[in-house]
Amino acid sequence: MPVLNGDPSFHRQEDGLNDDKRPVKYLVITGGTLSGLGKGTTISSLGVVLKSLGLRVTSIKIDPYLNIDAGTMSPYEHGEVYVLEDGGEVDLDLGNYERFLDITLTREHNITTGKIYQQVIEKERKGEYLGKTVQVVPHVTDAIQEWIERIAHLPVDRKKGPPDICLIEVGGTVGDIESSVYLEALQQFSFKVGLDNFCLCQVGFVPVMGVVGEQKTKPTQHSVRELRQAGLKPDFIFCRSEAPLGEAARHKIALFGQCPKDHVISVHDVSNIYHVPLMLEQQHVGPLICDRLHLHPRPLSPLAKNRHLMVPYNLANWAKMAQRVDAIEETVTIGVVGKYTGLSDSYLSVIKALNHAATEAGLKVDICWIESTDLEPQMQHECADKYDEAWRKIQAVEGVLCPGGFGDRGIEGKALSARFCRQNGKPYLGICLGLQTAVIEFAREVLQMDNANSEEFDKDTTQKVVVFMPEVSQTHMGGTMRLGTRPTIIKDPSSLAFKLYDHQHTIHERHRHRYEVNPAMVAALESKGFIFTGHDQDGQRMEIGEIPDHPYFVCTQFHPEFKSRPMSPSPVFLGLILAAKGRLTERLEQGGGKLLATAVNSD
Ligand code: GLN
Repeated sequence: MPVLNGDPSFHRQEDGLNDDKRPVKYLVITGGTLSGLGKGTTISSLGVVLKSLGLRVTSIKIDPYLNIDAGTMSPYEHGEVYVLEDGGEVDLDLGNYERFLDITLTREHNITTGKIYQQVIEKERKGEYLGKTVQVVPHVTDAIQEWIERIAHLPVDRKKGPPDICLIEVGGTVGDIESSVYLEALQQFSFKVGLDNFCLCQVGFVPVMGVVGEQKTKPTQHSVRELRQAGLKPDFIFCRSEAPLGEAARHKIALFGQCPKDHVISVHDVSNIYHVPLMLEQQHVGPLICDRLHLHPRPLSPLAKNRHLMVPYNLANWAKMAQRVDAIEETVTIGVVGKYTGLSDSYLSVIKALNHAATEAGLKVDICWIESTDLEPQMQHECADKYDEAWRKIQAVEGVLCPGGFGDRGIEGKALSARFCRQNGKPYLGICLGLQTAVIEFAREVLQMDNANSEEFDKDTTQKVVVFMPEVSQTHMGGTMRLGTRPTIIKDPSSLAFKLYDHQHTIHERHRHRYEVNPAMVAALESKGFIFTGHDQDGQRMEIGEIPDHPYFVCTQFHPEFKSRPMSPSPVFLGLILAAKGRLTERLEQGGGKLLATAVNSD
């Protein structure tokens, strides 16, 4: 067993280098056999383990597709588009990294083939290749290496100076045509930065076959062979399996993978996600990686009074969370009225945020998916069973969440879900499109504007309650929305928003939208009880809407799900979960009018 083993008093070797000179170490993770192995969770958990040793960790995700970013991709195609602080519309794995590692990434932390080629072609057009024939090797491979090196040095944890280690996830599976150029670039990169600074981990699959349940190692063996063909050799092999990896399988994989037996790591199924870092720690993955990379945890200052506070991310928190989640028995049922319910990855951050909030409230969340089109009147004729089932579900759930989306399909169903919740005192959280459809519904029914609509769904309506934002591009779809973090001002101390956000007058949340509540409609809506309690800095843009005379009717134009973290849930999600159980008022009273004042997840 390596000596470090999480001991925070361990001191690194004095190498005489200051932080800016010490090389950033690279830990590359590739996937073999098939996608959907949970590579993202494995890597984020690895990052958690390394952080617990006092190391500063960053991450880069490589997506080998030609899109510049995920912004123009359908959620059905690629799962949710995750939005970063800087407005980058990126792969959902970056959400996993931000949530697990509590870091803030930029759009450049998501490399795509589109971005790399765009850069190379722009350079070619400027004549910067000085008459050379521009080729995949070396020009594209060089561009990939330069990008990785530049971005790996950016601090992402609110501290100065470069991180200690950069986790690089190569999307897709080894052997795909698309990823071969990245494997070639990484192979060159390993020599450029030196083998002491470069470590490769392969995530393989170990299925079980036959009645005796033998663990089969061939798929992993083959994936290692593919990697070797690309000139790369794994230092560690992470094996995804149902049950813990048996001795025989570990032995075989080590033999064929040509790596030490303790470098073959079992990543088996666990009862909840918080166990994954603990499982890795039990197999000494952190110290083994440190040994391999000659990487040593930061020294703790002998002058530091609270030495334990110097360890930024103690695994004890994760152990506590894992136990808490296992021990929860009570369930809360939340209906999610969506347009893309066929693929749960379409709402990944929403699901995570519901879980973070439920754990904080001591509950397990049971998500009931409701396809919004099934709630619409025409469904009575098209498929009465679906219609009845959807309405039965919305009546049965304890709270409703209406998430974001684009285009007119399912809009009427979303509006009807908001009406049902408003009229029946059912807790409702509307996010982005879920705010817009709630406003449309309110205008139609309460303001008696029968044709109330959004310009997005009916350009010609005379009753525009949701309008196109003036600064947004009419011609280009990619990266042109109102994107990223913007401040929201909450003026009224008596508003629910002010209490949910722990009495802060200015909050920062992430956005992704083209349309907004028509400012000309605000006075009429408010006069009938739909109150806007959060605005942008100019007071012109409606950011939070609420109906005070209701157990919980809260809508946000921003997407609070992107900033929810396991140990610090999003306030509006926690509000929904507590209201669903009728415990919100009590909780606010306990916290002296603040929601998170008594939070347990963060202790
Ligand atoms: N389609 C709406 C808009 O562009 C809502 C966007 C969203 O829900 N993210 O404003």
